[in-house]
Amino acid sequence: MKSSISVCVIASLLSIAPVWAEQPIALALHGGAGTISPENLTPAKQQQIEAALDEALQAGYRLLNHGGSAVDAVEATILVLEDSPLFNAGKGAVYSWDESHQLDASLMSGQGRQAGAVAGVQRVKNPIKAARAVMDDSPHVLLSGSGADTFAERQGLELVSNSYFDTEQRLQSLQRAKQKIIEQTKSLHQANWDKLPLQYRSGTVGAVALDRNGNLAAGTSTGGMTAKRFGRIGDSPIIGAGTFADNRSCAVSATGHGEYFIRYNVAADICARVEYQQVSAAVSANQVINKVLVDAGADGGVVVVDPQGNVASPFNSKGMYRASIDGAGRKIIAIWEEPLVNEAIRR
Ligand code: ASP
Repeated sequence: MKSSISVCVIASLLSIAPVWAEQPIALALHGGAGTISPENLTPAKQQQIEAALDEALQAGYRLLNHGGSAVDAVEATILVLEDSPLFNAGKGAVYSWDESHQLDASLMSGQGRQAGAVAGVQRVKNPIKAARAVMDDSPHVLLSGSGADTFAERQGLELVSNSYFDTEQRLQSLQRAKQKIIEQTKSLHQANWDKLPLQYRSGTVGAVALDRNGNLAAGTSTGGMTAKRFGRIGDSPIIGAGTFADNRSCAVSATGHGEYFIRYNVAADICARVEYQQVSAAVSANQVINKVLVDAGADGGVVVVDPQGNVASPFNSKGMYRASIDGAGRKIIAIWEEPLVNEAIRR
């Protein structure tokens, strides 16, 4: 009798045990590729960056660990990176040619392919929140310019003056970029931005997550590329190019030369290969970043997570700021090829 009661108790415990007890969670983020080289990163700066990556990782992972959604975790992770002046998004956004800032962001849920994005916003303090509001509270996917700022304001999001995004470091980058363009083209009127070496102009932040319900999400936020002009929009707010998520395949956030990422539909292509060719997300991401984009002459990288919690972060630039905790609880914070921190964590 006793044993049958305990069997019953165990059975009922099992039946009420949350489905997610077995479901892995995972989170991966990037803080941009392209601007970095070992020579221009001091140990002190490197430490600062690693600490910020870790803070962002913990912010998102904590939510996942408490049963929060992948979308919430991605947004929380990106918020930390947007508020840091160290990354090209939110507070640390690069300058456009005219010494102002225009910011882009997007967010996608792998459950039902819901998505929202903003492009060229100038007053929204946290563009990722505006992307979330477009997804949740509008019938649209992509809002741009002053209309997107107004929409964000009506949603009750915090607006700031454009000078909030000013930083000395980014101003110097703009001046260096303009100088380089002038040296190369001899005239500002013929200024050829496309000839500017990538290390003068990029960066971006993004995150991907898998939650306890098996849902994936991806998000990306950026100031774009230094010295951009004429309302240029990159890949970051373009669903399929810089951001993509589908529960049937994977979630991807990209960083790199946006024009190529748009033309090669990078984030969606990685997930399509997983779905149609039955390759792993790691293999697919590696093919696109280290073959397709290298052949095309494009720099950049991605972070990817699949429904099993496998994480990959291939890049073809010198480095990519990145951090992750995969479905097995393995944590990585890295900039160059080799992980700088690799520890198993207990959930
Ligand atoms: N992809 C971003 C853009 O083209 C820049 C970057 O990620 O470095 O705007």
